[in-house]
Amino acid sequence: MAVIVIGFVVGHILALALLYTLGTLYWQLYQLYQFHSWLRRSGKAAPPDASGIWGEIFDAVYRLQKKQRKSKRRMRQALNRIENSTAALKEGVIMADSNGNLEWWNNSAGLLLGLQRPVDRGQPITNILRNPEFFKYFTQKRFGEPLVIKSPSKEGVYLELQTTLYDQNDHLIFVRDVTRLHLLEQMRKDFVANASHELKTPLTVIKGYLETLSMFKDNLPQSMQRGIVNMTDQSLRMEHLIEDLLLLSRLETNDQKEPHQWLKLEDICETVRKTALPMMTEQHDISFQIPEDSYIYGATSELYSAFSNLVVNAIKYSPEGGHIQVKWVQHDFSGVFSVEDEGLGIDPRHIPRLTERFFRVDKGRGSNTGGTGLGLAIVKHVLIHHNAKLQIRSQPGFGSTFSCHFPTDRVRQEALLATVATDVEGSPEETNATLDATEHSPETSANTPSA
Ligand code: ADP
Repeated sequence: MAVIVIGFVVGHILALALLYTLGTLYWQLYQLYQFHSWLRRSGKAAPPDASGIWGEIFDAVYRLQKKQRKSKRRMRQALNRIENSTAALKEGVIMADSNGNLEWWNNSAGLLLGLQRPVDRGQPITNILRNPEFFKYFTQKRFGEPLVIKSPSKEGVYLELQTTLYDQNDHLIFVRDVTRLHLLEQMRKDFVANASHELKTPLTVIKGYLETLSMFKDNLPQSMQRGIVNMTDQSLRMEHLIEDLLLLSRLETNDQKEPHQWLKLEDICETVRKTALPMMTEQHDISFQIPEDSYIYGATSELYSAFSNLVVNAIKYSPEGGHIQVKWVQHDFSGVFSVEDEGLGIDPRHIPRLTERFFRVDKGRGSNTGGTGLGLAIVKHVLIHHNAKLQIRSQPGFGSTFSCHFPTDRVRQEALLATVATDVEGSPEETNATLDATEHSPETSANTPSA
């Protein structure tokens, strides 16, 4: 306004207005230049002096910069703390992308697995951890249960790996040294196997004397006769217990692995039927529906043990008799061996624990029936060896159905097959069925140390 008035007075309004505009433009450009070079220099320097709108802009940007620097510092500190704490963790932590390529790992993981920076960064983890079990675990995404393997870099060390998928199927892997646990577990297994084995000899001697005494039983007083009968029963029970314990420890340790081959189901079931017959009373009525051309790929004596345990249980726990149906049904996705009874049934809350060793729904009931409490634990381990799963459906007072589901590559309907081989290792998949005995049991996985 002042420029117009002065221009009017001196008679050069236009020239003065132009001069003013150029001056203002120059000043604005100069401030812009100042602003630009301050931003380029930036760092922590205070903004150049300026008045008016430019002063306000400088101050506002300066305040913003200070705020951003502060939050950046805070974030870096937090990140450092996370990095330091994961570096100090005794557990190894590994981050790998969705394809399994290594992105980051802490010091413990480096030590436990022998990972080296920077060579191993970006490498597929399966190339570095060359272990067939790990390869299967990782490529087939069997992350439901942890995996125990030998350390690739330290002799005699056992590692437990637990993988979680996050973000876009990236892998977060925790590695733990479980050598002590593994050795303890091994000691427990060895102890059970050795103790059971050592008990066999004295028991055989006792049984021998009891047999001799039984021959002269009629000449002995009544009380002695009862004693001999009782001792004979108990020694038989003990013999079953020892046999079951030995079988279970063989199954657990995978010692003396029995070869797997194609077996005719009818033959196995015929042997099972013969075992079961002496236990049946007149009230029991048992039927076998096994197609004659059905075959299963497995270990003869293991499958016999599992199937006979289920059939014997159905008889033992059907005291009032009733119909027992033993069936083999082949679907598109599996072959199912099932034993259905109309006996006592089981309360659903007990079902998840049935495959634990020595678990009995009713302690008194178990010892009356002469059971060892190991039958279903044996069934479970046999099924693990055959990549199969156990499903239990039951209703107290109405009966139970125990079904063993075998994968398709283990079942065939005709006799062509002596040469086909399949993978005999690995644990069964979990099922979603509510009453699946393998689902909640602490003994579910072949990799978990069992109770
Ligand atoms: P046991 O030698 O006591 O039979 P198992 O491991 O075979 O041991 O079975 C564990 C428990 O499961 C049994 O004690 C019994 O309570 C229950 N059980 C197993 N099978 C049946 C069945 N068919 N009907 C009812 N209860 C059963």
